[in-house]
Amino acid sequence: MTIIGGFNNIQYSLKAASKTGYLTMLRTVFSKNTCKTCAFGMGGQKGGMINELGQFPQVCKKAFQAQITDIQAPIPSKLFQEKSINSFKNTSPRLIERYGRINSPLYKSKGDTHYGEISWEMAMDKIIQKFKNTSPERSFFYSSGRSSNEAAFLLQLFARLYGTNNVNNCSYYCHQASGVGMSSCIGSGTATIQLKDLSKADLIFVIGANPSSNHPRYMTQLMKCRRRGGKVIVINPAKEKGLQKFSVPSDFRSLLSGGSPIANEYLQVNINGDIALLKGIAKAVIESGKENQEFIKQNTNGYEEYVEDIRNTSWETIVLNSGIDLEKILEIANLYCTYNNVVFSWAMGITHHENGVENVESIVSLALLRAMVGKPNAGLLPLRGHSNVQGIGSVGVTPVLKEKILKAIEKEFEVELPKNPGMDTMECMQASMQNKVDFAFLLGGNLYSSNPHSKFAEEALNKIHFKVYLNTTLNSGHFYGVDDEAIILPVATRDEEQQTTTQESMFNFVRLSDGGKARFENVHTEVAIIAEIARGVLGNKPIDFRVLDSHEKIRKLISKTVSGFEKMKDIDNSKEEFQISGRTFHNPSFSTPDNKASFKVCPIREFNDHKGSFRMMSVRSEGQFNSIIYDEFDRFRGQTSRNVVMMNKDDISSMGLKENMLVNLKSSVGEMQNMFVRELDITPGNIMTYYPESNVLIPTAVDPRSKTPGYKLAWVKITPA
Ligand code: SF4
Repeated sequence: MTIIGGFNNIQYSLKAASKTGYLTMLRTVFSKNTCKTCAFGMGGQKGGMINELGQFPQVCKKAFQAQITDIQAPIPSKLFQEKSINSFKNTSPRLIERYGRINSPLYKSKGDTHYGEISWEMAMDKIIQKFKNTSPERSFFYSSGRSSNEAAFLLQLFARLYGTNNVNNCSYYCHQASGVGMSSCIGSGTATIQLKDLSKADLIFVIGANPSSNHPRYMTQLMKCRRRGGKVIVINPAKEKGLQKFSVPSDFRSLLSGGSPIANEYLQVNINGDIALLKGIAKAVIESGKENQEFIKQNTNGYEEYVEDIRNTSWETIVLNSGIDLEKILEIANLYCTYNNVVFSWAMGITHHENGVENVESIVSLALLRAMVGKPNAGLLPLRGHSNVQGIGSVGVTPVLKEKILKAIEKEFEVELPKNPGMDTMECMQASMQNKVDFAFLLGGNLYSSNPHSKFAEEALNKIHFKVYLNTTLNSGHFYGVDDEAIILPVATRDEEQQTTTQESMFNFVRLSDGGKARFENVHTEVAIIAEIARGVLGNKPIDFRVLDSHEKIRKLISKTVSGFEKMKDIDNSKEEFQISGRTFHNPSFSTPDNKASFKVCPIREFNDHKGSFRMMSVRSEGQFNSIIYDEFDRFRGQTSRNVVMMNKDDISSMGLKENMLVNLKSSVGEMQNMFVRELDITPGNIMTYYPESNVLIPTAVDPRSKTPGYKLAWVKITPA
């Protein structure tokens, strides 16, 4: 079996460092900045590669991958003269990223075939004039999870004073269902535990997630849980090698032994079969009388309805829909009843569904059944994606601003903010399609690539007359959907900021990043750009935005207006990073009006009308982070290219196919041609393809509650090419 992690990862990281220069890379990873990649979090004031518990070394290959793109040379100006937008469209996303760092504002007007460099003055003037000539309700603002809390707070403040609530962040296309589902059950939408709780957990569920690839340092926690006699239960349609055995590079025993066992139990559930499985486990717990009645009576609502629904759900329905046999479900339920400190963690295999919120509510309900929320060392852990995606939402980059923040801002500045609900990301895309949007301001990310139904996304974006992108490197989003005017503004990375910035991890821990030396002479910081535009559009009233290009001043405002961030007002002097108050639940007193948690009744979705189609989920590869492709080669799955469809071997043979044959995939919205068939240990009837390429097959339908598309379930027909 291929060794996942270990020396391969070390070798990769060394190779990455050799490209940038060892000293440069070392300086970067040791600097006091938050890791730029995932929200597990490390770095900040304790130092690079150190976590909030002071442990060292805490780093992974993904952190190095992100640094390579940031430490690139600037893109030579002649590239934009030579290469047309169409030619960029035909270039692989990986190559586009590798052209280098953007070091000048770029502009194209309607009908231009090329981007051209322009001055900052000209770029800002065009943007300010356009804002002034646009009705606020015909604009939308979007932020990726890479930006700082300071830039995000300023962005939403400007947008609202400008007159719109069309302010949203990338979580609508990732973990929104976690926030909505958890809030409906416990009144809080983020992890209920802190990092230290993981070290005492004795049973960890990993549901719809592949941390070996996406949150590599979580693997250390899983490995340690097993080592101290605990258990790890993985629920995932595909058998991911890294979740079976992983070589943790920072652990000698794991490194030298060729890897540590991770999953004790691996349940290959059907895609979207999670609710059925979770109900099955709950049913077995209830039938064995091992639920925690005292906790339920004192701290929860809705138990009777929940039990009634579980009792009325037949084992036949559970087994059929989950794809897991009864004996295994009983075994897992028995394990669940044996351990006292259980953590439920999950990622987008749960949230990327049209019933993602109900998936999350099912997890929370199962946890409540045995009182696994509201005590130390046990609880809920949504595995969030980008390094500050949680913070961006916390400080108000959402279409509906929390009442408390809204009131506090209104009071602070003696202003009235718009009250009509803003549009979420998909609503903005749909409105664009209907010619209802004239201006999009996109702070980081790649909105085109992250959208489902790529044809729809391109068409909708094409209908927005003016788009502004703030990015460090080029991506496909700069070339698709840009028939009309577009400006790309080059921004500084976190470790090039001249002022400190803050970020929030998935454990609700806020880090302070020092920033560092500017690598390029012609990039600006996000806060400086937003403040200048706001000043140009709104003047100095009602807020003097000249003052708000000071990050410290913005932090003072955040501490005054955002609940839980009170300690932020002192962070510039104390340098003391902090846990956001009111988010950790070590006691069973929840953030609901009566302080009780709620069980939720969640229906199992039954699919009867898709005969002859496969359930397809789109996934990230090991050499990828969100829509950024660092490497075409997926070492963990042994795939050398991305135009593949991964299938169960029985499905391959029953269709008369063979490995490496070419097939076409067709869904209700699109088609992918000439895809190589590859064998994968995945539940029969389920297939896997790579995101974002297979977005062409994903419909735009969203979960009505989270507004998140079902990237993990498209019905797809396969035919020989
Ligand atoms: S696990 Fe996440 S936070 Fe930690 S080093 Fe890797 S990418 Fe950075």
